[in-house]
Amino acid sequence: MAAILPPAMLGIIGGGQLGRMFTVAAKTMGYRVTVLEPDPHSPAAAFADVHLCAPYGDAAALQTLAATCAAVTTEFENVDADAMRMLAKSTRVSPSGDCVAIAQDRIAEKAWIAKAGLPTAPYLALESAAALAAVSDDALAAYLPGILKTARLGYDGKGQQRVKTPAEARAAFAGLGVACVLEKMLDLKLEVSAIVARTSASQMAVFPLAENRHEGGILDVSIVPARIAAGLAASAQTMAQRLADELDYVGVLAVEFFVLGDDTLVVNEIAPRPHNSGHYTLTACVTDQFQQQVRALCGLLPGSTELLTPVVMVNLLGDAWGEDGSAPKWNVLAEAPNAQLYLYGKREARPGRKMGHFNVMAATADAALEQAEALKDTL
Ligand code: ADP
Ligand code: MG
Repeated sequence: MAAILPPAMLGIIGGGQLGRMFTVAAKTMGYRVTVLEPDPHSPAAAFADVHLCAPYGDAAALQTLAATCAAVTTEFENVDADAMRMLAKSTRVSPSGDCVAIAQDRIAEKAWIAKAGLPTAPYLALESAAALAAVSDDALAAYLPGILKTARLGYDGKGQQRVKTPAEARAAFAGLGVACVLEKMLDLKLEVSAIVARTSASQMAVFPLAENRHEGGILDVSIVPARIAAGLAASAQTMAQRLADELDYVGVLAVEFFVLGDDTLVVNEIAPRPHNSGHYTLTACVTDQFQQQVRALCGLLPGSTELLTPVVMVNLLGDAWGEDGSAPKWNVLAEAPNAQLYLYGKREARPGRKMGHFNVMAATADAALEQAEALKDTL
């Protein structure tokens, strides 16, 4: 397929922070961007050439995207896979509707991870109440204590319930009332993620592994390079690439892993887009994950993923704002020459809402972490 070159128009479904950073990357590279997003004040539309202010599934808006964009991508996991398939009939689309559909459904996702020959946590797919009723308490106990996760529409720890007994699992399933997976609770030593950019079978690049710490189910800090053995990091990168190959994936694919006590790796989940844990690439890599998204979308070779410096990314949630809406003390970050602030332009700070992030670069990951934590505490 011929490469799509500037100043072609690129389309993106979704106008949040990931769409904003995609738009900035594309504009910087000389492309034009159309954003489909119903929020009139979205983070991405502020930078876009064209804002289609309509619901994501709006037929006329999708028609306009297809007719005016040389290629279309998405920034969010729960985009309508059929809309992506429909767009693909008349324009270049990445990731494909099929890949998006797999990543949207924990049951399909885990089946594909297994198909690629990679390990997941032991799990039970529970499509319906009848499926659960057919499982004995003894069989359930093999996955307990566990986490019941809705198969679809979960993010940042939402749609999950921790359960200890078969009775609790059954009650939680009835409460959620949708298809779920029951996953055995594993003893995690660390969580890490690998981000792959893939244009074709022979054109693939993988970023250095990020070590991720969560607070209340939401990513808090990513530390790069991850502080694990080089061999282990290399296997996680290889696994992520194997998964991208198995899916014949085109675009940016994020793969989350658990590292267990005995240093085995387990694939947790995938995201068919740039990932919060890849925001460190914006300041610390030759090519960042949003430039990779543009490149893969346009059929260009992925750029170098080389890490130029150890780095720590800290998420800024709405909790960091005052109750009266007052902003954190940005001067603290401005006075640190090795820190860079990214704000997403969201009007209202709410607890748990991702408002921005900052990256701190230092000689070692430990030094960057120490400084990043001190900066976060004084903001
Ligand atoms: P989300 O889509 O909300 O990110 P995840 O499946 O990644 O859902 O789960 C969120 C977090 O919950 C993980 O990053 C991890 O900290 C914890 N978690 C999820 N599954 C397990 C598990 N099987 N064992 C231990 N911790 C888990
Ligand atoms: Mg996750």
